[in-house]
Amino acid sequence: MNDRSIHIPHSPLPRIVVIGGGFAGLELCKRIDDTKYQTVLLDRYNFHTFQPLLYQVATAGLEPSSISGPLRNIFKNKRNFHFRLVEVDKVCVDEHAVHTTQGALRFDLLVVANGTKTNYFGHKEKYEGAFPLKQTPQALALRNSTLRNFEEALSVTNPDERQSMLNVVVVGGGPTGVEVSGAYSELRNKILPCDYPELDFGLMQIHLIEGSGQLLNGMSKKSQENALKALTNMGVQVRLNARVVSYQNHVATLNDGTELRAHTLVWAAGVTANLIPGLEAYAQAPSNRLLVDGHQLIVGTKNVYALGDIALMPGGDYPNGHPQLAQVAIQQAKCLAKNLRHGTDTERWTAFRYKDKGSMATIGRNQAVVDLPGNIHFHGGLAWFIWMFVHLMAIIGFRNRVVILMNWIWNYFTYDRSIRLILRAGS
Ligand SMILES: Cc1cc2nc3c(=O)[nH]c(=O)nc-3n(C[C@H](O)[C@H](O)[C@H](O)COP(=O)(O)OP(=O)(O)OC[C@H]3O[C@@H](n4cnc5c(N)ncnc54)[C@H](O)[C@@H]3O)c2cc1C
Repeated sequence: MNDRSIHIPHSPLPRIVVIGGGFAGLELCKRIDDTKYQTVLLDRYNFHTFQPLLYQVATAGLEPSSISGPLRNIFKNKRNFHFRLVEVDKVCVDEHAVHTTQGALRFDLLVVANGTKTNYFGHKEKYEGAFPLKQTPQALALRNSTLRNFEEALSVTNPDERQSMLNVVVVGGGPTGVEVSGAYSELRNKILPCDYPELDFGLMQIHLIEGSGQLLNGMSKKSQENALKALTNMGVQVRLNARVVSYQNHVATLNDGTELRAHTLVWAAGVTANLIPGLEAYAQAPSNRLLVDGHQLIVGTKNVYALGDIALMPGGDYPNGHPQLAQVAIQQAKCLAKNLRHGTDTERWTAFRYKDKGSMATIGRNQAVVDLPGNIHFHGGLAWFIWMFVHLMAIIGFRNRVVILMNWIWNYFTYDRSIRLILRAGS
C-alpha cells in the first residue's frame, strides 16, 4: 500500500469518491450535481468498457476501441470532477479514506461500484490456461491465442493434436457463453475456411457446457429452448447438466469423466464480487456482494454506498438481490444521483425500484432471443435486429456507434471479419 496522498484541488464542496467507471459509476458521475459536490472517479483503466460486446472483440468482430469510452473525454465538460487512474486496494470506512496504488484519498461520501470478477469457485489452479472474459485485455488475449492456435495447427502433423488446436470449450451457458459459442460457430462455418484453406474446419468442435438443465437461466423457457435449438443447428455441441471440473494440459474433464481436448477454453461460468479489503464485514456470502438498504447505503455504514453488480439489495420481487445487469447498475446510479440532489437529508430520498425492461441474447446472424415484460418473446431475425438496435443505442459515443454499425453491415454482407490480427505487446 502507498502512504502518499492523491492530490485533488481543494473545494469547499463535500467530496464524493466513486470507485469504478463501469455502467454504475459512469452514470452516477454524469448525473451528480456539480454545484453541490466535488466528484473524484477512480478506476484502474482510463476507459469505460461496454462489456456486452466484449465477446465480439474476442472473436475478431470488433476493435476494442469501438466498445470503449475514454473517461477523461466523457467528462471533459463536467465541473468539479477529477479522474485518477489508480487501483483501490483498501477502504478504511471509519477513517473516511481509500488507499490506492497512487496514495490515500479522503472522502465525505464513498460510492463502491467496482463490479465483479471471474469466479472459479475457489479453484483457479484447476483451470490452467482458461480464458476469462470480463475485461478488454482478456478479450484480446483470447483473440490472439485462438488465432495463434490456427496458425500453429498448420505445422502440426498429428491429427488429434491438430484438432485439439482448433477445438473450443465454452464453460457456462448464460448470455456470454451462448454468444461466444455462436460467434465461434460463425467463424468456423463461414470465415476461417477462407483464411486457412489447408485446415479442415469440419474437424473443429465447439462445446458449450452448462451445469444446469437449461441455457440462459433467468430468461423465459421459450427463449431457452430457442437458443438451444439455434446453437445446435449451428453445430455447437451443447451439454446440459454437466460441469467442467478441471482443465489441464489442454484437456477439459467433465464431472462424468468425459475428456474434451481443446487448446481454447473460455470460462463464462459466473462472477463474484470484486471485494476490496476493508469491506469484508459488509459482504454477504456466498457471492461477497455488499448488502445495501433501499437507498444503496451499505448496511452498517453512514456514508458508504454500493451500486451495480457488487451491491446486494434483497427484497420485494428480488429476494436474492437484483440480477447483475447493466440496466440495474444504470438505474441504481440514476436513483442515487437524484437522491443526492437533496443532500444527505434522507427524508426526501426515494427507495430504489428496478424497472425491468426485458432481457436478450444473440446467438448469431439472424438469431437472437428477446423477452419483454408482459410475457412477450421474440426469436430469430426480428429479435436479432432488436438486439442490435438496443446495443448500438447503449454504446458510449456517436463515433463508436458509427464504427460498430459499419462493422456489422460489412460483416453481414461479406461474411467477413476484418480484425483477425494477432497483436502482441513489446517487440
Ligand atoms: C462478457 C459480458 C457480457 C455481458 N452482457 C450483458 C448484457 O448483454 N446485458 C446486460 O445487461 N449485462 C451484461 N453483462 C453484465 C454487465 O456488464 C454488468 O452488469 C455491468 O457491467 C455492471 O456494472 P458495474 O458498474 O457494477 O460494474 P462494471 O461495469 O464491471 O465496472 C466496474 C469498474 O470498476 C473498475 N474496478 C474494479 N476494481 C477496481 C479497483 N480495485 N480499483 C479501481 N477500479 C476498479 C473496473 O475497471 C471497471 O471499470 C455482461 C457482462 C460481461 C462480463
